[in-house]
Amino acid sequence: MTKEITAYEVALQELHHVAELMHLNDEVIGYLSTPQRILTVSIPVRMDNGSLKFFTGYRAQHNSALGPVKGGTRFHKDETLDDVKALSFWMTIKNALSNIPAGGAKGGIEVDPATLSKTELERLCRAYVKAVFPMLGPKVDIPGPDVGTPQQVMAWLMDEYENLSQRHEPATFAGKPPILGGSLGRDRATGRGLVYSVAEALRKMDTTLEGKTVAIQGFGNLGSHAATFFTEAGAKVIAIVDVKGGAYNPKGIDVQAAFRQVTDTGSIAGLTNTDAIGNQELLEMKCDILVPAALQNQITETNATRIQARFVAEGANGPVTPAAEKIMIDNGIFVLPDIVANSGGAIVAYFELVQDLQSYFWTEGEVFQRLEKIMVNTCSNVYEISKTKNVTMRTAAWMTALNKIILAMQLRGWIR
Ligand code: NAD
Repeated sequence: MTKEITAYEVALQELHHVAELMHLNDEVIGYLSTPQRILTVSIPVRMDNGSLKFFTGYRAQHNSALGPVKGGTRFHKDETLDDVKALSFWMTIKNALSNIPAGGAKGGIEVDPATLSKTELERLCRAYVKAVFPMLGPKVDIPGPDVGTPQQVMAWLMDEYENLSQRHEPATFAGKPPILGGSLGRDRATGRGLVYSVAEALRKMDTTLEGKTVAIQGFGNLGSHAATFFTEAGAKVIAIVDVKGGAYNPKGIDVQAAFRQVTDTGSIAGLTNTDAIGNQELLEMKCDILVPAALQNQITETNATRIQARFVAEGANGPVTPAAEKIMIDNGIFVLPDIVANSGGAIVAYFELVQDLQSYFWTEGEVFQRLEKIMVNTCSNVYEISKTKNVTMRTAAWMTALNKIILAMQLRGWIR
């Protein structure tokens, strides 16, 4: 699908829309429309064949009024500074919305990790940390995982930070393996959190997940765990697509079989007892709940009028453009925005920080219980505000978050 608008342009459009409704002054807009600090680094890595290759990496710290900044690290071939800036902004909003005492940040490297050997990837991780080291620390900036940065990557990043600081500081990174101070449940937190928030929104509408049909774009970390929890909650996942193909069964896909197949073959395509389905077909199919959980800009003005789902839960960051959201809402579709629906990972990354600082770890049950409480409260508050103020869920979420950030900036004396 062609990119009609960049992620940062979307974030700024969202800010300006809410700024108008809230009558925000130029000082607030000035602080929020640009990250406080951005570092672009050139990362030299010695490849296995002896050549030296340079990769481009970024770290953007958006706003630290509510605390040290926090946010994921993406390793992706199409990573751009624009994306990193937008994602750091959304992290500021997401953290404030969930009452996490932290600001927003994001980082990334323009690289397809699949093209590197394990040793090259490790050297790239260590070189990235060397390059951004002065910006990091448990009381400054805590990077977490995102696309392309599994637990092993987070372990190398943390280890290099400790080499440089000559101290044990697991709290500097989130998303580590549990043996190195990672939180139990972090890997499933975003998928599980998304289902908690969808269930709460449905509860507000006097219905439940029982028997609802779900279509999911993306079967990676987020999509696969969301599919599992949707099924456990009584919903029926009828369609899934990934980058290589898709599977459709109106009676419900066996999600555990899908997990096994993806582990074995790398794709959902060709799953037993399913028919093939394409990306566009999935997005436009008749179902109760559509979860875009792969990429940004998937529902745009071009296809928004053809969306038949009654409820769209944004799993990915920015999968629906502002113009497309307006079209869908006018068509009576409920849109649960990313900053509410996919904040489970950010919340458990914060739990990881708390556990690391205390050197005292919670059971998985405790992690999910605390996660559910925050997801349900946030979704419920945002829903109530959207009804009282007659605004969309996204606008209500931004208003709630901005009120907290603005108050913190005023009390610090940054703005009048
Ligand atoms: P992932 O890399 O684990 O999985 C991505 C999935 O999307 C894969 O199944 C891939 O095959 C599929 N995909 C890629 N391109 C596609 C295409 N063109 N069409 C259809 N499917 C395609 O990533 P993830 O961690 O699951 O994250 C997915 C999205 O959710 C990203 O936007 C990410 O920023 C967002 N997100 C993830 C988390 C998290 O904790 N994992 C938290 C917040 C937001």
